[in-house]
Amino acid sequence: MYRTHTCGELRLEHQGQEITLAGWIQRKRELGGMTFVDLRDRFGITQLVFDENSSTDLKENVKKLGREFVIQVVGTVRERSSKNKNIATGEIEIEVSKLSILSASAVPPFTIEDESDGGDDIRMKYRYLDLRRNPVRENLVLRSKMAHEIRSYLIEREFIETETPVLMKSTPEGARDFVVPSRMNPGEFYALPQSPQIFKQLLMVAGFDRYFQIVKCFRDEDLRADRQPEFTQIDCEMSFVEQEDVLNLFEGMTKHLFKTTKQVDIDNFIRMPYAEAMANYGSDKPDIRFEMMIKDISAVVKGQDFKVFDEAEYIGAICAKGCSEYTRKQLDALTNWVKRPQIGAKGMVYLKYNTDGSLKSSVDKFYNEAELSKWASACQAEAGDLILVLSGDKDKTLKALGELRLEMANQLGLRDKNTYKALWVVDFPLLEWDEETKRYYAMHHPFTAPKPEDIPLLETNPGNVRANAYDLVINGVEIGGGSVRIFNPELQSKMFDLLGFTKESAEAQFGFLMSAFKYGAPPHAGIAFGFDRLVSMFAGLDSIRDTIAFPKNNSGRDVMNDAPSPIADAQLDELQIRIDLKEK
Ligand code: ASP
Repeated sequence: MYRTHTCGELRLEHQGQEITLAGWIQRKRELGGMTFVDLRDRFGITQLVFDENSSTDLKENVKKLGREFVIQVVGTVRERSSKNKNIATGEIEIEVSKLSILSASAVPPFTIEDESDGGDDIRMKYRYLDLRRNPVRENLVLRSKMAHEIRSYLIEREFIETETPVLMKSTPEGARDFVVPSRMNPGEFYALPQSPQIFKQLLMVAGFDRYFQIVKCFRDEDLRADRQPEFTQIDCEMSFVEQEDVLNLFEGMTKHLFKTTKQVDIDNFIRMPYAEAMANYGSDKPDIRFEMMIKDISAVVKGQDFKVFDEAEYIGAICAKGCSEYTRKQLDALTNWVKRPQIGAKGMVYLKYNTDGSLKSSVDKFYNEAELSKWASACQAEAGDLILVLSGDKDKTLKALGELRLEMANQLGLRDKNTYKALWVVDFPLLEWDEETKRYYAMHHPFTAPKPEDIPLLETNPGNVRANAYDLVINGVEIGGGSVRIFNPELQSKMFDLLGFTKESAEAQFGFLMSAFKYGAPPHAGIAFGFDRLVSMFAGLDSIRDTIAFPKNNSGRDVMNDAPSPIADAQLDELQIRIDLKEK
C-alpha cells in the first residue's frame, strides 16, 4: 500500500496513529536542526517533521530532498505546537520515521503554488506542472463535476448518449474545416466535425428520440479568448418537440447545474426576440444584469440644423446613471474609445443632466435647454445622469452603442461576476445577407426551420424571414444555441436554393440527410451548449483556456508537444502527398 491517507485527510483525531503518506514536496525549511517539509497531493498539504534525533540515514536522505520530489513517508501524527488555520490539516504534523524517495525532480521552471511566478508561456510549455497548482486543477475538477451533473440530468430524462464520427465529411456550421488526409483513399480528405449536426438529425430519423453527447468539435477560425480550435459542446437533439419544449428542458438543465455546482438559484429565463435585443441592447447577446437600455432618439434630435444628426439614418442614446460629473478627460477618453476601429463610431455627443438641474451638452450651439430637455425625457434621465449619443448607419450604431453600454457598465461596476442573469434570445433572422459575395447565408445553419407564418416571405423578402432559432445567453455571453429543424424535404431543398447551392452541390454535401428525410423524419429540434464557456463562467474566468487541461495558444499551437509540426517523409509517402506550399 503506497499510502494509508491522502495529504488532505489527517486531523487531530488521528493523533498517535502511525500512517503512510505519499506526494510531492512543495517546500522544505530548516529550522534549528529540524527540517519541515510541506507534502502535497491533489487533496491537500500535510506538514512533515524530521527531528534532530532522527537516524543518520534519514537525515542524509532529507538533505537530498528538493522541490517536487515524490516521496513516501511513514510517521506518527502529532499535534502541532504552532497551528496553521489556513489549511485543513493545520492542527497536526507527521513525525517521520521512514522516508523513501520515489522520484527525484529537476528544479521546476516556476513555483508550483497558488500564486506562481511563471508567465503564461512557460506555464503552458510545462502544463503538467501548471496543472499541479490548486487554482488550475480546481477548474478541471469543476468541469468534471459539471459534466457529471449534465449526464445525470439528461440520462434521467431518457436521453441516449451516442458517439458520432470524428472522421467525417464537411459540416454546415459555416466555419473553416480541419482536414485529415486518407491513406486508403489517396488524394481524399476527411473533415473533422464542426459539430455533429447532421448525425444528430439522422439519429432522430433513426428513432432515438432524445440524443446527447459531450463532444469535441473543431473549427479552424482565428482565435480569441473564448475560442479554441478544438472545443467541447454539450450537443443535444429531441424528437416530437416544439421550441418551448427544448427551451424548458435546457433551462431546467442550466438551473440544475447552477444549483448543484454553485448552490445558486437563478431566476426564470425571459424570452427576448432578436429584434428587441438589437434595438434595446445593440447585441444579440444582451447582458441583462443592468438596465441602461438604448433609446432611439432620432425623432427628438432631428431638424435642428445639426448636420451630423440630420443626415444620420439612426441616432441612439444610453443614459449612464449618476455620471453627470464625468470630467472632460473622461469624456474625451470615452470618445476615443468609441472611435477605435473595433467600435467604429465617428464621434460621440454627450449631454450632462447636472445635479442642479441644468443641462450641458457638447452640441449646445445647435440645441437650447428646452430641446435638450426633450432628449433627457426621451432617455428617462434624471438630474445627475449622463447621456451618451451615437449616430450613423443603424446597424453599426446600435452595435457601437451596445459596446459603449458594456463599457459604461464596466466603469460603473455593474457587471458583477457573481450575479447571474440568463435569457433566451429567440426569433433570429433565418438568413444573413453578405454584401461581399452578394448572397444569403444561413444565420444558424441550413437545417434551421423558418417560422411557419414567415414561409411565404421566402419568395418575396427572404431577409425578413424569422427562424425558430434560439440562443441561451448568460451575463452577455452566448452559452448555447439551437433551432427547430426543417424535416420536410421540399422545404429543405428550397433552403438550399436560397443559400445558392445547386441541386448537385446540395446532393454532394447533404445528400444522405436528404435521402434519410424520404424515409419518415420526425419533427425535431436541438441545441448545443459551449461547454468550455459554461465552465469558464462558473469558474469566474475570463478565458476558456484554463477550463481545458491541454489548451492551444493564440496561434493554435500546443506549445508543450509542439503541434502542429512537419511529418516524416515516410508518412507523406504513405499518404501519397508531396508538400509544395503555395504562396498566399
Ligand atoms: N450544431 C449547432 C451549433 O454547433 C447547434 C444546434 O443547432 O444544435 O451551433
